[in-house]
This record gives sequence, C-alpha cells and structure tokens, in this order.
Amino acid sequence: MTANYHTHTYRCHHASMEDERAYVEAAIKAGYKELGFADHSPMPLPAGVSIDECLRSVGVRMTMEETEGYISKLLDLREEYKNDIKLHIGFEVEYFPEVFDELIAFLNQFPTDYIILGQHFESPRGRIYYGEETRSPRTLAGYADLVCEGLKTGKFTYLAHPDLCNYHGELEAYEREMKRVIETASECNVPLEMNLLGLQVQRNYPNMAFWTMAGDIGSYVVIGSDAHGTRGIKPERALYYAKRFIDNTPGLTLLDRVEFRSIK
Ligand SMILES: [Zn+2]
Ligand SMILES: [Zn+2]
Repeated sequence: MTANYHTHTYRCHHASMEDERAYVEAAIKAGYKELGFADHSPMPLPAGVSIDECLRSVGVRMTMEETEGYISKLLDLREEYKNDIKLHIGFEVEYFPEVFDELIAFLNQFPTDYIILGQHFESPRGRIYYGEETRSPRTLAGYADLVCEGLKTGKFTYLAHPDLCNYHGELEAYEREMKRVIETASECNVPLEMNLLGLQVQRNYPNMAFWTMAGDIGSYVVIGSDAHGTRGIKPERALYYAKRFIDNTPGLTLLDRVEFRSIK
C-alpha cells in the first residue's frame, strides 16, 4: 500500500490532537508515496435551521472558519515535503441535498483536490447516525438513497465505508439495498473503500456480506486507513486482513491509487 486518501486531523474534533506534520512523517516512515487528507468537511446550515438543531452532526467536523487554516497548513506541508511524499488536499463529505451545492461552491474557493463520500447521518440535523444498530428497513433504504444520489453527482472520487449502515434486520432487505449501492457505484465508476479503522477497532464494517456481494457484482476497491491519529496511518494487521480478503474474493479488484474527480 503506497497511497492512502483517508486521513483526518484534530480539526474534526474527534481525532488525535497531533499536528498534521506528525501524520506526514508517519506516512513517509510507513513507505507511502502519496498521502491524502480527507478531514470531515464543514457543513453549511440549511436555510432557517439553527446550529443548535444540528449539533450532533456539526460537532464532528471542522467549522467553515477552520477550513482556511486546514488548507494553508496542508499547502505549506506539501511544499516542505515535496521531495519525500505527494500530499493531497481533500475532504470527507456527507451528501445532504439541501446544502450540497452550497458546500461545493464553498470548497471550490480553495485548492481542493478531491472529495470522498462518507455518509454518517440522514440530514444536517444528525437525527440518525447510520453506524448505530438499527432494524428499520426505512433507515437502511434512506442510507442507500442518499449514497446513490451522492454517487450520481459525479463529484466523489470514492465511496468511504460503503457498508457503514449497521442494519440488523432481514438479510433480504440488506442485500436489496446494498446491491443498489454497489451497482450505482459501478455504473458511476466510483471505487468502494475497504475501511481499515473499522477493521482495526472492530466496528460493524467491513461487513463481509457486503463485500461478498460486491465481489459477485464486480467492484473496484480502495483501501483507506481512515486515520484519526498517526497510529492509524498504516495499521499493518488490519491491512493484512483486508488484502487477504480482497485477494481471496473473486470480482474485487484492488486499486493502488485513484484518479481524482474534479469538483468544479
Ligand atoms: Zn471521523
Ligand atoms: Zn473518515
């Protein structure tokens, strides 16, 4: 693994307080040729909605005001370390149709290289966190709807933890909805991310039922470390299991690096 495009910073308020420089040095030490930062993007508030109504979702991302500092810090590091590693500036973005255009316009004010789709909530209000256990087919379908619509915007370079939705109901419903996600990603040429953080801390994802289906349909896969601290930059054990699973699953094609989609 010589590239990772899913790295967070302290600016999202739930990662380690380490400086970005520490991540860059850890990545060089780990043998990466490319490191992409994709911290949780800020989120504009929908018209007429107060920040108090959105605290759960707003609290896990950088603010609009913090964005400039994030960008300038990474530009400086990119220049300073240009002989050692290629640094990319990105964001992990939720697809919320009511504020998406405004967010893209905002991110386009900066030299943003790419965005990845990471759907955690149902709306800017954050009433439903999809990582929480649910038996509701409506919640599951809502997740799939948002992800599919997001993929169709053509702006996302890849789909982070596509299997985040923690559904424990009927397997048939799970397969039907995730099939939509996998097929839409394939139609839109968007690779799926196998997420090392989930593997490392034993979350509900990577979900092997999901990945077996992704193999049956045929999918391109990117491995993302989703580092929230330098220790997560290249978790070797998780990486070993992820690679072994991908190698042993026909229909999954591992990509070493990705082509960025323009967000213009
Ligand atoms: Zn995070
Ligand atoms: Zn992430």
